[in-house]
Amino acid sequence: MTTNRAEPSFRESVDLMFNRAAALLDLPPGLEEKIRVCNSTYTVRFGVKLRGRVQTFTGYRSVHSEHTEPVKGGIRYSLGVNQDEVEALAALMTYKCALVEAPFGGSKGGLCIDPREYDTDELEKITRRFAYELIKRDLIDPAQNVPAPDMGTGEREMAIIADQYARMNTTDINARACVTGKPPHAGGIKGRVEATGRGVQYALQEFFRHPEDIAKAGLSGSLDGKRVIVQGLGNVGYHAAKFLSEEDGSIITYVIERDGAIHDRNGLDIEDLHNWISEHGGVKGYPNGQYIENGSAVLEEECDILIPAALEAVINLSNAANIKAPLIIEAANGPVTAGANDILLEKGTVIIPDLYANAGGVTVSYFEWVKNLSHIRFGRMQRRQEESRHQLIVDELERLDAHLGGKWSMTPDFKQKYLRGAGELELVRSGLDDTMREAYAAMQEVWHNREGVKDLRTAGFVVAVSRVASSYQAKGI
Ligand code: GLU
Repeated sequence: MTTNRAEPSFRESVDLMFNRAAALLDLPPGLEEKIRVCNSTYTVRFGVKLRGRVQTFTGYRSVHSEHTEPVKGGIRYSLGVNQDEVEALAALMTYKCALVEAPFGGSKGGLCIDPREYDTDELEKITRRFAYELIKRDLIDPAQNVPAPDMGTGEREMAIIADQYARMNTTDINARACVTGKPPHAGGIKGRVEATGRGVQYALQEFFRHPEDIAKAGLSGSLDGKRVIVQGLGNVGYHAAKFLSEEDGSIITYVIERDGAIHDRNGLDIEDLHNWISEHGGVKGYPNGQYIENGSAVLEEECDILIPAALEAVINLSNAANIKAPLIIEAANGPVTAGANDILLEKGTVIIPDLYANAGGVTVSYFEWVKNLSHIRFGRMQRRQEESRHQLIVDELERLDAHLGGKWSMTPDFKQKYLRGAGELELVRSGLDDTMREAYAAMQEVWHNREGVKDLRTAGFVVAVSRVASSYQAKGI
């Protein structure tokens, strides 16, 4: 992706967005600066013996704000990782956690590596060594700093990190809470893998519950039948596209990937396309859609909703004016640069910002962390009790019905659904839905009512920054 020379860096972009919100808040002198700056960034260079020679890797863990601890944020494996990026992402984590009321400060880590170049055993060696370097400096710790998956990492890396921590802290009963996004059989929680994409779906569902907000984007109606372009069919884009198309009736007209885009005006079958990409490494040759070589030009196609779900800065000064989507939801972190943001706002585009839109991941991470600290799965105590109380009602209704001659009998579907108590996955989804609705309400209140706030991003930052500021002020800083 080439970006315009006049474009600020990712870090500067986040700071510009922060500044706009901070200017609307009456913060005590100096506090604005204290919140904006990144507290610390640790850089490590370590060697791992691979394929007969020592290879040196560079990694980072940045802590943006410790107003609440532990600090939280993913670890990314990508060749694009650098200090500016990690610091920008750590800052976004602070604001994201504050907005969705996850009790964490912001942090982020990254390793400069292309994970596709290494096999599973090599990646394990590299991950263990990186984790070791961070653990011995308390940059991974259940009470201080809790990583999670991000681009290029997933359940496997998190399980390795958790295991490495447990080996180095054999008597820490809360060891499993040192990292989230672990596989369910290794201390994880159901619904974490889908969480960020699920959160994007819930964010859109919530947006479409508010006719006045839908109208601001020049749209009407519901998600049903809306034409959607998804950029990036990684974990987040895949789940968001899958849920929107399978559950909300949205039509995914284009999917953009590394090697081009695929189009079907009647809607792509996301599961089928995802299987193809997993097998072939890209979209080229996919038989059930039209292939377009120039993927980034597809961002400028007509649609109702554009979902950038991959890299930062894909919508920038060079293409912002040509973007036709009236509604953009930032499933990725920082996909719209500060300059592009202003061009789009000028055009009336509504942007559901990253700090809200992709907060589903950290929200479910929060649930996982709580589960690890409480050492019990959600629903274990209540589920059967809830079922037996529901059974009482069903029995009573059936008794009354029989008494009245059986003419009002319940639909079997109702009975089956009502009788089933909520398991961990249902509870996680319910908690995530509630979180997304509450956070939207907080942003919307500021968006509609606060003088000088013209967009959802500024509203989100206003909510988040004022919460972080209150936390610092309560501590007397
Ligand atoms: N990496 C994800 C994010 O950017 C998740 C972070 C977490 O779960 O701590 O929000």
